[in-house]
Amino acid sequence: MDHVIETTCRSALYRHNSKWLPYQYDINVYRGCAHRCIYCYALYSHEYIGGGDFFGDVYAKMNVADVLRRELPRFSREPVNLGGITDSYQPAERDCKLMPEVLSLLARYSVPIILCTKSALVLRDLELVGRVNAASGASLALTVTTLDKRVADIIEPNSSRPHERIAAIPEIKKTGAQCGVHLMPVIPYLTSGEDSLEAVFSAAKESGADYVLAGALNLKSATKKAFFDGVKKGFPSEYASICALYNDRDAYRAYKEKLQATLGRLRKKYGMPAYAMPIVPAKPTQMTFFQPAF
Ligand code: SF4
Repeated sequence: MDHVIETTCRSALYRHNSKWLPYQYDINVYRGCAHRCIYCYALYSHEYIGGGDFFGDVYAKMNVADVLRRELPRFSREPVNLGGITDSYQPAERDCKLMPEVLSLLARYSVPIILCTKSALVLRDLELVGRVNAASGASLALTVTTLDKRVADIIEPNSSRPHERIAAIPEIKKTGAQCGVHLMPVIPYLTSGEDSLEAVFSAAKESGADYVLAGALNLKSATKKAFFDGVKKGFPSEYASICALYNDRDAYRAYKEKLQATLGRLRKKYGMPAYAMPIVPAKPTQMTFFQPAF
């Protein structure tokens, strides 16, 4: 069970200076995330607050809107990513309701937003998403790594089920915002088969998604251990093969090349761009994109 701890923050807008991302600012209204994805890339972030259980101890920044209200008059109106190291619409948001005020402020100050989630709870705030989009542009995405419910139940146990995420896309598009699918991370042996990938592309196309951003699973630090523990428990038959792949540089390179070729074929077949995280400046006509690795 997740434990929601109410806390306060001193700043809301966080500048990360990443060279690889098409935005420089994040707002994380939570620390930790109860979605419990076995491949979670953000586990490291709890180390900055002295450790603890990233999935179980979720910190809710109850004053985030008040702090943001102070910061926005001096902010440069660059695109802001809502949830770099957490999911803004994880279960705690149902009660804490931090996002509506944040979105409302971003709309008032014409700040473009980027938001990716695994939760259909985002549908609650579509009116506000529409307001941000009208003021400055909004680019949303649903992460869908697989449509196989059995696999999703193990790798992403507490998020909305894959079909609910796909069903959210046409609703989001009604706001005028762009909405894509993040088919990432692709997990070898579990979600990397062509049938599995094609099911996501096909559903994305049918739902009216604007793009499919795909990416392989990279394993670093705390994520690596948590991932292998999760695979061992949830997919004992695939455990040895997955470990072997990540311990053999050549085999991993060959796997990635094959994956890239498969994604390229599917992209062509479904006419799906690989646009990732569009930068949405104040004038929507100047939208630019960066190309992911594949
Ligand atoms: S939704 Fe994102 S932040 Fe939350 S557990 Fe999954 S990967 Fe981690």
